[in-house]
Amino acid sequence: MALVKCKECGKEISNQAATCPNCGAKTETSIKKKHNIFVSICIITVIIMILLCVYFIHTSNPINKYKHEAISILEQYKQDKDLITIKELSQQLEDLQHEFDKQYKYNDNLSYSIFSNGLGVISSSISIDGRYDSNLSNAKIDEYIKQLQQY
Ligand SMILES: [Zn+2]
Repeated sequence: MALVKCKECGKEISNQAATCPNCGAKTETSIKKKHNIFVSICIITVIIMILLCVYFIHTSNPINKYKHEAISILEQYKQDKDLITIKELSQQLEDLQHEFDKQYKYNDNLSYSIFSNGLGVISSSISIDGRYDSNLSNAKIDEYIKQLQQY
């Protein structure tokens, strides 16, 4: 702790004090502190805005939305294998694909049709797997999830 001169009354005061105990004037320390808080708030606000932008850009792409939904259907199956049959699982993914197609099929975006095809391939290979196995291994499900994550 050092002593500094008050810029108002000239008396020596602690450099840690927010105001001069003699005349009550605000010290450099308190002004600097306020300035630092203001700068921190600005930086935090900018970071939040950037994160929100990234989030909105990400979620406004329908492929991301449907991809996450398909992945959560597969994750759900991993947890509830006794409750969901392979046929139901395949049907859920097929329904999702149809829902996606209904909205975006006639959109002239190549990545939309690539995603739709990919989802269709996964749902039909799951139904083919279902003919041979009564349930899918987690490794197989993870493989499908990995495929989806590539879109
Ligand atoms: Zn003073």
